[in-house]
Amino acid sequence: MLDRWNPPSAASEPPLADCVRAARCVGAEPELAIAGGGNTSVKIDGDAGTILWVKGSGTDLARVSADDYAPLDLAAIEKLLCDPALDNTRMRDALRTALRAPAAPRPSIETLMHAALPWPHVIHTHAAPILALCNTAQAEAIVSAALGRNVLQVPYRHSGASLAAACREALARYADAQPAGLVLMRHGLVTWGGTAREAYAATLALCARADAYLDARGATRPAAGDLVDAEPDAAARNLVEQLRADAAEIAGRPLAGVVRNSRFMRDFAGRRDVAAITAQGPSTPGHTLLTRAWPQVGRDCAAYASAYREHLCGIGDFDHAPRVILDPAFGALILGVDAAHAEAAATVFVNDAIVMARAAAIDRYRGPGAAWLRLAEVEYSGAAPEAIARAAALAGATETAQA
Ligand SMILES: [Zn+2]
Repeated sequence: MLDRWNPPSAASEPPLADCVRAARCVGAEPELAIAGGGNTSVKIDGDAGTILWVKGSGTDLARVSADDYAPLDLAAIEKLLCDPALDNTRMRDALRTALRAPAAPRPSIETLMHAALPWPHVIHTHAAPILALCNTAQAEAIVSAALGRNVLQVPYRHSGASLAAACREALARYADAQPAGLVLMRHGLVTWGGTAREAYAATLALCARADAYLDARGATRPAAGDLVDAEPDAAARNLVEQLRADAAEIAGRPLAGVVRNSRFMRDFAGRRDVAAITAQGPSTPGHTLLTRAWPQVGRDCAAYASAYREHLCGIGDFDHAPRVILDPAFGALILGVDAAHAEAAATVFVNDAIVMARAAAIDRYRGPGAAWLRLAEVEYSGAAPEAIARAAALAGATETAQA
């Protein structure tokens, strides 16, 4: 992973510019910010109290600018953190009230988590090498062995109020230690620092340790040559076109498709345990929005749709067609409502497959569970509050800060 900080001696930059610079460095690294996910923040003291500047929802980290950050009254958000009955719907309303600039972008769903960490600069990523450690059956022991005991582990919690509360609890329990970062189990990494440069350096350092741990156990990344895609042959093209048409019919609308048929992806699709591994879900819950909770393995779109209908329990307004289809004959067919969505989903799925393969090389790949993946897909798709509440209830989440 490259250190992209440039220029190296930017210590005199204003804090927000520094924060934006770190976001862009993170966003430029595919292993840190797959499909632009993650966020950065900075707390800046002023005459009217401390302002928390946090990246708005839906902006790609690689192209972020200061205009994409939302300024919030930190004191108001800290009050929210003390509210044990807070749920994500009320949290969003309260964040809107705490905004210091009404025209600012909608603050990230992880705003409360950024507020809960007492350091000026905070960086949250879905760092691939960390995800390969924390999406395993023995994740707690593995993360501890790879990163050390001063990297705190936060058990899986749904993003928003619950996750922020869990981060606060983890910090309180280790109040005497000097934590170097937080691993959000089955979700990602959080680092911090007095400057954005320090927080970014901490992200790189922990990823380097994770990579070294994985590499030493033979769980290496595929070689670049094994990730090169080729033009599918005529037989593969016909098969892919038939599957795309089958899936579109189930979806009830056109679906664009792209093929990823590198040697790595064909091998992955041909693994004997591919169905068991991928059934565990993507490497971080937000990816469900592009790839769904699991891919179709093989050619039976109707069977997939029937299983996915059951999985969603009638919640929300979803079609039940696959977004990823795996078959050793062509590797992966990735589908989306348009070409851009299919391309984004393909980038996400290739990275997830690498994470899954690396995790499976050191242990069993293990996600947060189907109910949490359903809740993530329902909430991130912008479903109605009643739909989110039903999915939360099925996950056993009270959706409150004390969950
Ligand atoms: Zn996240």
